[in-house]
Order: sequence, then structure tokens, then C-alpha cells
Amino acid sequence: MSSRGPKPDMTKLHPATQLVHGGTQRSEFGETSEALFLTQGYAYPDMETAEARMKGDAPGYVYSRYSNPTVDMFQQRMALLEGAEAARATSSGMAAVTTALLAQLRAGDHVVAARAMFGACLYVVEDLLPRFGVPSTLVDGADLSQWRAAMRPETKLLFLETPTNPCLEVYDIAAIAEIAHRKGARLVIDNVFATPILQKPLELGADCVVYSATKHIDGHGRCLGGIILGGRELIENEIHNFYKQIGTCLSPFNAWVFLKSLDTLALRVRQQVQNAEKIAEYLSSHRHILKIRYPGRPDHPRAELVKRQMSGGGTLVSFEVRGGKQAAFAFANRLSIITIANNLGDAKSLITHPATTTHQRLTPEARAALGVTEGLVRLSVGLEDAGDLIADLDAALTVLDRQGLAAE
Ligand SMILES: *Cc1c(COP(=O)(O)O)cnc(C)c1O
Repeated sequence: MSSRGPKPDMTKLHPATQLVHGGTQRSEFGETSEALFLTQGYAYPDMETAEARMKGDAPGYVYSRYSNPTVDMFQQRMALLEGAEAARATSSGMAAVTTALLAQLRAGDHVVAARAMFGACLYVVEDLLPRFGVPSTLVDGADLSQWRAAMRPETKLLFLETPTNPCLEVYDIAAIAEIAHRKGARLVIDNVFATPILQKPLELGADCVVYSATKHIDGHGRCLGGIILGGRELIENEIHNFYKQIGTCLSPFNAWVFLKSLDTLALRVRQQVQNAEKIAEYLSSHRHILKIRYPGRPDHPRAELVKRQMSGGGTLVSFEVRGGKQAAFAFANRLSIITIANNLGDAKSLITHPATTTHQRLTPEARAALGVTEGLVRLSVGLEDAGDLIADLDAALTVLDRQGLAAE
């Protein structure tokens, strides 16, 4: 007889515990660390079992495009954290977005989405869906009357990210979920910028949540991946068959890396938020900064909504350097700890200039409409010492004094 205590109900435990133990399946060897099942297929004890599993009449794995034990552990741990009934992990964040949308849509349906969106998501909604007979309407996500006005009888999905990239606008998930549900539509949230630690879209009324695991979930700049979370009916009946046939599955190796990262996700995000708060405070009164946007500050235009919807301001800070592109480049080029890169959510602090990178394909008018000005930079705050990061920013901003750029 084992003298160990009863198996805990993981759903009742706190995120820090779920992130370390959730979903763990030990093999016959009793390994402490989650095992990496780097296998394409599974051996059956006999032909009858192969037949039964293929038919879905017997439990067990069939092929890693459909499911895999290491990927399952990652899915279950994420579902616990998110408060979702089920999840499917994908090869990238874009595989999650595309799979989640296409699996729920068919020709004749209509989609409404917020205009301020990650570039590749905008491509899927604005260009790809209409090619397959699903027209889309883009709205200003902050304006509830625009969401209401865009609804049609055939509107099936509403889609948004909040906070948005790169201007960190914040949209009201509960209010937009209500607009969707009143017309029999569903709400899908891209929760990457908020992270599963700081915002729970399902509790706020959303039907489906997607992540790029490439960002905070990996958190160390290694693997691409994504995940789709929601109710059992949606995930197992609508998403799963589509997912397993089109092959947007996650590599077991990447799932194993993400499992190790989840151990520290809550710790990392909390520390990054603390660093971001200090950096935002430092930048807010700097003579070379025209404007700063951080959802955790009382001067954020939706500060009251942030308080209601998020449990922290996030790990990103956007700010506008006085003097346009020339000043933004001169400043960023002088940084020595903060790295120039387009990624985010990394342990390393990363800075990017959206107008010339992530948003360069947009017309100047479209950039202006989104608030992507020539002086705007987006800083993803990492795990370095906040004082060292502020000193790095300070030294780089001081360069602008000598260049006389601030006068422009
Ligand atoms: C990065 C990102 C994606 C896409 O994720 P990939 O892993 O790069 O495919 C989608 N949405 C948001 C908000 C992102 O930041």
C-alpha cells in the first residue's frame, strides 16, 4: 500500500503549483522531469488494438500529428492555467490563429476584427479569409458602437488582441463578448501580450483563446509554437479533426522545452512586469520622450479597464522618441544591453522600431491610423536588473542631447 497522500485536484490549486505539476504523466520509469516522447508513431500490441484505436473505440496514441504524450502534458498544463476544458498545441502562434479561425468558419460566414492586430493575423483576416468566401470587417477595437454596427446575421466570429501591438491599446473583452453572444457569434482572443498570468479571457466571456508560445511561454527565445484553448465541445469536436488532418501540430521536442519554461512562467512574468513598471516610470518624465504607453500606468487611456481586466500592466512598454525615425535609430543604436530584435516576451530585453520593421508594409496613412509614428519604439522588458536597463536607456537617450535631434 502506498502511504502517499491522495492525488490533488489540480483545478483547485494556484497557478504557481499548476505550472510545475499540471498535466504531468509519468512513464513506467518514474522520471521526475517530464519525459520527451520524440516519436512519430506508436506500436500496437496486436492488429485488433490497431483497428480499435484507429476507429476511436480504444484509448491510446495513434500518430503524433494527432496527439503525443509530451504535447498532451503541455496542453493539459496550459488548459489548467487558462481555466479551459481542453487545448491543442500548434507549430507556431500563426498556426494556432489560422487553425482556430479556419476550423470554425465556412464560406458565407463573416468575421469582425479589431484593426490593431499582429501583422500576420491581419493578413489572415483581411486577405486570406475573404479568398475562401469569408468576408471580414475591421473596426476600431476601442469603439463598441463600431463592433455593434459591423455585426451581420452571418457574423460567426469576432477576433481581437489586447493589449495591442505595438501601441498597447486595451479593449473591453467582457463587453465585446456580450456583443458577440447577443448575435449568436463567438469571440476569439489572441492573448499573447497579456500572457495567461495577467489576463483570463475565458473568465471574461471569450469562447476561445490563442497564444504564440514563442513569446512568454518559451520566454528564452528558442522554440516556435502556439496553442488554442477553449471548451471541450469546441476543441474536441470542431478544432480537433481539422487540426489533425491539416497538420499544424507541435513538435514534441518544442512541447518539452515549453513544459520546462512553464515551471517559471509566473515568476518571470511577475518580475518582467515589475521591471516594466520601473522603466515606464523612468521614461514618463524624460525630456527626449514625447509619449509613453504602458497599460499599468494611471495615465493609460483605459487605466480603469486595465484594472478590471488585467492583474498587471504587462511586459511591454511603447514610447515615442522626440525627433522621429532619426532620433529613434540614434537612440536604439546606442543601447548596449537592450537588444535590437522583433521578438517579445524573452528573458532578454528587446527593442524594435515598428514603422520600419513589423509595420513597414502598411501605407503611411494606415500606420498613422494605428498610432505607429516614426519616433515610436516598442520595448519588450526582460529579466535583467531594472537599474541596469534604466542606465542603458539613460545613456542612449543622452546621445540625443549631443545630436541636437530633440529640437526637431
Ligand atoms: C508573435 C505573435 C503571433 C504569431 O506567433 P508566431 O509564433 O510568430 O507564429 C500572433 N499574435 C501575436 C500578438 C504575436 O505577438
